[in-house]
Amino acid sequence: ADMLSSSTDMESASWKKGEPVPYAALCQTFEQIEDTTKRLQILDYLVKFLISVIKQSPESLLTVIYLSINKLCPEYEGLELGIGESLLMKAIAESTGREMKKIKADYAEIGDLGIIAMVSGRFGFHPPYRDHQCNEPTLANTKSKPDFQNSRSNQPTMFKPKALTIPHVFKTLKDIASLSGNSSQKQKVDKIKLLLVSCRNKEAKYLMRSLEGKLRIGLAERTVVVALAQAIVLSRPDIKKLSKEKLQAELEEAASVVKSVYSELPCYDLIVPALLKTDIKGLKEACKLTPGIPLKPMLAHPTKALTDILDRFENIAFTCEYKYDGERAQIHKLDDGSMRIYSRNSENMSTKYPDVMERLGKFAKAGTNSFVLDCEAVAWDREQKCILPFQVLSTRKRKDVKEEDIKVQVCIFAFDLLYLNGESLLREPLARRRELLTEHFNEVDGEFAFAKSMNSTQIEDIQTFLDQSVADNCEGLMVKTLNGDEASYEPSKRSRNWLKVKKDYLSGVGDSIDLAVIGAYSGRGKRTGVYGGYLLACYDPDREEYQSICKIGTGFSEQDLEDHYKELKEHVIPDPKSYYVLGEGNKPDVWFAPVRVWEIKCADLSVSPVYKAAVGIVDSTKGISLRFPRFIRVRDDKQPENATSSEQIAEMYNDQKLNTVKNDTSLGVD
Ligand code: ATP
Repeated sequence: ADMLSSSTDMESASWKKGEPVPYAALCQTFEQIEDTTKRLQILDYLVKFLISVIKQSPESLLTVIYLSINKLCPEYEGLELGIGESLLMKAIAESTGREMKKIKADYAEIGDLGIIAMVSGRFGFHPPYRDHQCNEPTLANTKSKPDFQNSRSNQPTMFKPKALTIPHVFKTLKDIASLSGNSSQKQKVDKIKLLLVSCRNKEAKYLMRSLEGKLRIGLAERTVVVALAQAIVLSRPDIKKLSKEKLQAELEEAASVVKSVYSELPCYDLIVPALLKTDIKGLKEACKLTPGIPLKPMLAHPTKALTDILDRFENIAFTCEYKYDGERAQIHKLDDGSMRIYSRNSENMSTKYPDVMERLGKFAKAGTNSFVLDCEAVAWDREQKCILPFQVLSTRKRKDVKEEDIKVQVCIFAFDLLYLNGESLLREPLARRRELLTEHFNEVDGEFAFAKSMNSTQIEDIQTFLDQSVADNCEGLMVKTLNGDEASYEPSKRSRNWLKVKKDYLSGVGDSIDLAVIGAYSGRGKRTGVYGGYLLACYDPDREEYQSICKIGTGFSEQDLEDHYKELKEHVIPDPKSYYVLGEGNKPDVWFAPVRVWEIKCADLSVSPVYKAAVGIVDSTKGISLRFPRFIRVRDDKQPENATSSEQIAEMYNDQKLNTVKNDTSLGVD
C-alpha cells in the first residue's frame, strides 16, 4: 500500500505522454538504485519508474526492461554488449579531446570508465558544448583534475545536441553490438562518440557501463522481473479499490507468475507485449513453452553420499539415471518441421552438430510433429560401441562444423520430454514424461538412446548402479522424483527433486566448482613462455561482482598451458575491472577480462583473510578460498556469469562443516 500511494503520485517523470522515454529518466532511476543497497528500496525505485513508462510510453517498456538488465535481445539470439575498454577509451578521448594517456591513467586510478566518461564529458564533449544544468566536475574518487590536449572551456558553446531517448540509445547499442568485420572497430567508436556527445549529467556514466557489459548498480535481473510484474499490477486503474491485504497478495502472485513464465519462455519480446495487452492472468495463457525458444534447464543439487538420497527421498518414489558426461542438448522440433539444438546456455548449437541435425528426423515416431527434448550429447565410439570421455567431445569444433570433417561421433541420450505436439509437459510428473518419451521416440543404435535408468530404494542396488555407470564411462547418477507435483520439470531451478551423485566427489566437497579466470602469473622454469598459474573468481549475480577465490597451478597438461596462454593473452586488460573484488595480495602479473570459465576441484573450502569469495555471507570481512585446487576442464558451455555463485560457495562451505561431523557414519561414494 505504501508503494501504491507513492507510486500513483509519481507523475514526476519529466516527459509527456506518448513521447519516447528520455534516457535521462532511466539514468536517474539507475542513480537512485546505485545509491542504496536496500533491496526493497531498489525494487520501489524501479517499480515507480516502470509505472510511469507503462502509463506514458508503454511502447518503450520492452527497451527499458532490456536496458535495465543490460541485454539487447533474448540470450539465444547471441547478440551481446561487452565492448573492450580500449575501444571505449578511444571513444572518450576522441569525443572530449582528452589525451589517451590521461584517460588510461584515470582508468588505472579509478577503474570505472563510466565515471571517467562522465567527468571527461563535463569538460566538454566534442563538438564542445557545456550543459548549463550540470554541476562542475567532481572527480569524486580522483585526486587529479583531468588534463586536456586543448582545453575547450573557453571555446564558444555550439549547438547543443538533442537529449537522448531510450529508443535511440537502445537501437544504437544494438547496431554497435551487431557490427562485425574489418572496419567495425572504427564504426563502433564513431557510433559511441555520437552517443557520448549527446550525453548530459550522469548519462555518460551509465552508457559506458552498458557498453562495457556491466551496469554495476546492484540491480539483479530477478529484481527487474519482479518490478515488471508489480508495475503491471499497480498501473491498473482499479488498483486503488483493493484492500492492503488483497493488493499485497496480488503483487506476490504477479511476481511469481512472471518469474515462472519467464523461466518457461525466456523472451521479453513476447512477455512484455503480452503483459501490456492482457494482464498477469492473461500472461499465463499467452506465453507458454514454445519450440524454437530454449527454456532454462532444470539443474540438480549435489550430494556427498548415497545416504543423502535416502534421507531426501524417504517415502517418495524416485528413479536413478546414468549421469552422462557430455554436453547438455535441448532439442526442439518446431511446428514447421525445422529442428534446433540448444546448449545449456541457450546458445544455438545446430551448426555444431550438423550430423545430429541430419539424423534427428528418424528418432521421432510418425505423428510426433513438435517436441522439446532434454538430452546429453555424448562422444561415442562406433567400433567399440561405448561412450567416450568428455575430453573427446570437447575436441569437436563449436561452430560451422562440416559433416565431412567430423571425427568424433555423437550419441544423444534423452532423459526428458518437455513438450509434445502443441502441449507443454512441464507440469506432468517425470513418470508420465518418460512414458511419453519412450512411446514417441525410437532408439537408434549408437545415435539416439533413452537415459539408462533403475528404480530401487535399496542402497546396495544404487551403489551397484553407480559402479555400473562409472564402468560405462559416465560421471555418476542423477536421482529424480517420479510422481506427483514434486516431479514436475522446474526450468532454471537448482532443485532438490534432482540430485546428482558424482563418482569422484572428494570427501568434504560435494561438487566441482566452475570459476572465472581473472588473472595469471608468468611461468617460470618449465613453464617459461606460458602462464604458470592463474587467479580465479566466483560470481555474485546480485552485486554483479567477481570475487577472488584462489590461485591455481595444478591439473594442467602442457597442452592445456599452451592453449590457455594462446587464448587468454588476447583478453589481457591493463587493470582489474572495477567489479573484481580482491583481497590484499591478489595481484597477478596480468589481468584478464572475464571471458572463460574453468571447472575446478579442490580438497576443501576454508575461510580466508586473502580471498573474497562470498564475503559478507559466512564472515563479514573474510572470504572463502579453495584448498588444493586442481584444473579439470574448460567449461565452454558456461558464460562467466554462470560461474558458481557466491551463495553456492557459502553453501558448500557450510555443508562441508556439517559433513565433517556426519562423514564418519555415511557411506562414501568414492
Ligand atoms: P551445475 O550448474 O549444476 O554445476 P553443470 O552443468 O555443471 O551444472 P552438473 O552439475 O555436472 O552440471 O550436472 C547436471 C548436468 O548433467 C546436466 O546439465 C546435464 O548436462 C547432465 N546430465 C547427464 N545425464 C543426465 C541425466 N540423466 N539427467 C539430467 N542431466 C543429466
